[in-house]
Amino acid sequence: MSGRTVDLSDVEVVDNHVHGFRIDDVLAQDPEDFETRLNLLGTLFSDSTLTSEAGRADPSLWQQVRRMTETTVFSLAARRLLAERLGCEATAEAVANARAEAIRADPVAYIHGLCEDARVAGLLVDDGFPLPRVPSEEFRQTVGGTPVHRVARIETMIVDVRDGAEDLASLEERFEAELERAAGDPTTVAFKSIIAYRTGLDVAQVDRAEAAPAYLRWRADRWKETREHAKPVRDYLLHRAADAARRHDRVMHVHTGDGDPDIVLSRARPHDLVPFLKEHLAQPIVLIHSGFPWIDVAGYIASSLPHVYLDLSVMIPWASLGIEQMLTVLLGTAPAGKLLYSSDEASEPEVIWIAARLGRRALERALADAVERDFVTAPQAEGLGRAILSENSRRLHGIEG
Ligand SMILES: [Zn+2]
Repeated sequence: MSGRTVDLSDVEVVDNHVHGFRIDDVLAQDPEDFETRLNLLGTLFSDSTLTSEAGRADPSLWQQVRRMTETTVFSLAARRLLAERLGCEATAEAVANARAEAIRADPVAYIHGLCEDARVAGLLVDDGFPLPRVPSEEFRQTVGGTPVHRVARIETMIVDVRDGAEDLASLEERFEAELERAAGDPTTVAFKSIIAYRTGLDVAQVDRAEAAPAYLRWRADRWKETREHAKPVRDYLLHRAADAARRHDRVMHVHTGDGDPDIVLSRARPHDLVPFLKEHLAQPIVLIHSGFPWIDVAGYIASSLPHVYLDLSVMIPWASLGIEQMLTVLLGTAPAGKLLYSSDEASEPEVIWIAARLGRRALERALADAVERDFVTAPQAEGLGRAILSENSRRLHGIEG
């Protein structure tokens, strides 16, 4: 026993939102920049993870990103945790060297060791990044057998089918076939949309008569992401995806809030998605990143719509010092049965482990605070902690465990 009011150290974690990786790509990275690639700025701006044009256009930005690592609280905490794990001095250089040596010796054993140590018992993998997608079975082997569940991104499907579709009817038919194919994959637990990166979360009700001419204009426009041409089509298809999710008893994940510089931040607020959520009231929908930084709004939405869930990635792990406070806000607002632990690892495998360490600790403290302030008993707090770390995601996605 730890002597702590709430002890979740033995509780398994199901990580609700991560991205796949390939061992060769991980090993090909510059060891010197390892620490920077772990933090949020580094994740958004490193060559390997960058989806943004902004960073590619000016390589000097990376130098600024590197300089900031030394004053990033998350990075200083990660350095100490990793030094302890690797048995080395807690300096950037010693950690980078010890880590390079450890992962090169036996990459799969090293990564599996991290998952085991953090009791990671499942990974829900957004297959839209990186591309080409990392198949579930391949990634399961990369992480040494940790169970992997596929989250099939619809924007990738749209890119795959749109060139071959001469009109909306043909696009719709091909898109539906892709959705059916993804649903036929037994590892698929959810469909995912990043429409916030394309035309914004303010998804409208669009009928065929409006979407059909918009599709022809979008095509003629060479697929530019305009509100005039692209948006009606993307909105129309998102509704079709929600219908397919309902038919196949799959969950929908929708990116909300923060993102790399390509995000349409002015239309990425969880508020914007509310009309869409109301159109699909009976469909379980997870707001990925809880609309971070608008988490209070996401908390309110989840408290007012029965099937809206909140994914805790980004705030976990990168809000570091602030994770506890944000968890307190969400715990106080929405049912804990709607909160899903996750990390949004999108750069280095260690992010999965660091997030589990920091997230579990912050959750213990937030729940202990709820006990001390006489809102819940210690056994109740522990039950809520278990739900958030793994049980909620398992139940929602139909994952055995
Ligand atoms: Zn992500």
